[in-house]
Amino acid sequence: MRSVQEAEQLISEQIKPIAETITAWKDFPIAVLRENLYADRPLPPFDRVAMDGIALVWQSWQRGQTQFKIAGQQKAGQAQETLQDPQECFEVMTGAVLPQGCDTVVAVEDLIITASGAQIKTGFELEKGQNIHFKGSDATQGQVLLEAGKLLYSPQWAVAASVGKTQLKLSQSPRIALVSTGDELVSPEETPLPHQIRSSNRFFFASALAQTGIGQAGIENIQSFHLPDQKSELEQRLATILSEHQVLILSGGVSMGQYDFVPEVLKELHVHEVFHKVRQRPGKPLWFGVGPQAQLVFGLPGNPVSSAICLYRYVLPALRQMQGQKWQQKFAILDESVTFSKNMTYFLAIKAYYTPEGQIMAHPQPGNGSGDFASLAHSDGFLELPAECDLFKAGNAYPLWLWQV
Ligand code: AMP
Ligand code: MG
Repeated sequence: MRSVQEAEQLISEQIKPIAETITAWKDFPIAVLRENLYADRPLPPFDRVAMDGIALVWQSWQRGQTQFKIAGQQKAGQAQETLQDPQECFEVMTGAVLPQGCDTVVAVEDLIITASGAQIKTGFELEKGQNIHFKGSDATQGQVLLEAGKLLYSPQWAVAASVGKTQLKLSQSPRIALVSTGDELVSPEETPLPHQIRSSNRFFFASALAQTGIGQAGIENIQSFHLPDQKSELEQRLATILSEHQVLILSGGVSMGQYDFVPEVLKELHVHEVFHKVRQRPGKPLWFGVGPQAQLVFGLPGNPVSSAICLYRYVLPALRQMQGQKWQQKFAILDESVTFSKNMTYFLAIKAYYTPEGQIMAHPQPGNGSGDFASLAHSDGFLELPAECDLFKAGNAYPLWLWQV
């Protein structure tokens, strides 16, 4: 049986980058940027006045002058003026170009404005260059402001706007099929009979894809299906689904039950099995294979907790790699000791919180086994506790997987 790390590596080896798409601004999807964004001009592009006040020549003040006649006004959005007489000053507004000849800005609150001009308040010390946001001090022209691989949230969209990139190269979303299997399942809008349950996994998958940004750029590329535990129908329908999608995320039917047909049907459809079963709890029956057109096929165990954890631990990272997203693993400190003596990786549901010192802590929230998905709604994610240890001590840090990444 594969370890978690082996399974992850085997999946990673099968991934080919997905194409990019040029996207005009629309709906601001949380999508992966596939090009670097450069400063098209220095940032800021001119010596920018950072306070309302006056602009003057610092040396005049240094020589003892505190009273300045106002030579004119320099507003934001107005072409640069010139100070002719170093004994005078310009009235300036935040966002204006610093007038030529000036090198220092004194804020209104440090001045007394009279009919004869501006008077610097007694005792106020001027520093040369104060209140000026100098040209190029944030970024030089041509400097990379954002690197390819970044997920675009609001600050990144603002950067794109500031450099005039109204069309961006973003990662496409693969065509993804979310497929639940199981004769006991009915859809959420139906009233289940006593022996039936409502299907929830597909909806967990769909919302996770949308909320992590992986599916947002192409939500129309994600389709949902439900298949019965019936071999010939499973085979027939999966053949079509396989031909129309690049990634299949199946739930259920991969264990040892007599009606768990998914692995054998996939093999008959020429999906090459890369591995079946991983040394982990929950989620041991995880199946992964590659289709004839390099489709990635994930067979997740149907138990909702197993399915959820396998999605976040294997499928989402695979989709990130496919989309070229740079991503960083988070870690959290366990706040209570936990024992787990089986030689398996243990995925422990947790509640995450910050200490006043700013450290991320994880409090165990184990729930009632892998069928207890209702308890997941009170968790923030899970910790990955390595197979090699039995005792996981309070105070130790472990990889953290959050539902909200
Ligand atoms: P399976 O992996 O098909 O043996 O399913 C394991 C357990 O998970 C069974 O109790 C199923 O009823 C349940 N299950 C499977 N698929 C889903 C689903 N889509 N939503 C909710 N529960 C499911
Ligand atoms: Mg089943």
